[in-house]
Amino acid sequence: MGEKKRNVFVISGPSGCGKNTVYDELKKRYPDIAQTVSATTREKRAGETDGVDYYFISKEEFLKRVDNGEFAEYVCYGGNYYGTLNSEIKRLSDEGKTVVLIIEVNGAENVKKMLPDAVSVFILPPSFEELKRRIIGRGTNSAEDIEKRLEIAQSEMRCKDKYDYCVVNDDLEACVNSISEIIKGAVQK
Ligand code: 5GP
Repeated sequence: MGEKKRNVFVISGPSGCGKNTVYDELKKRYPDIAQTVSATTREKRAGETDGVDYYFISKEEFLKRVDNGEFAEYVCYGGNYYGTLNSEIKRLSDEGKTVVLIIEVNGAENVKKMLPDAVSVFILPPSFEELKRRIIGRGTNSAEDIEKRLEIAQSEMRCKDKYDYCVVNDDLEACVNSISEIIKGAVQK
């Protein structure tokens, strides 16, 4: 008997490190991977769709679901709640998917406690200066939000050693190749 297959992946990285772009590229290569849709209390950004990018819910609704034990993990980040519903992980696993959670560092730590077989990957920006440039260049966050995100990014970078793997997103193709190898290695065991 080979080692157990590992089908849950947790990806973190500071806001602006390009983790969503990396995921989109991975998805092109592995149509069988699927990202859990998180619930959040933050405002919907232009171009985002409820039920696709997030389940956008009120704070009251979020906290009610916390009380009901519906979350695998949740955090308060930048003044808003974000969380992964147990039902999301179960739904995708039942469909035979390789499940990907793209979440921040505290949530990732909680998931590893709950699902020790989950494989965690931290995506690093090439430099802090580059990260700042990307966050500002995105133009979707207010000045106050940008400051908050940069502060959080700095503290998130300090958590990178807790992850199974760290990959620098200097060159998108190279970064996606590295994560592809990690996924292949885990799911083929
Ligand atoms: P954003 O507001 O930019 O969409 O997300 C802010 C941060 O929250 C990102 O680092 C994102 O990965 C993280 N995040 C999104 N959904 C979840 C979740 O369900 N749980 C946790 N812990 N973090 C999340």
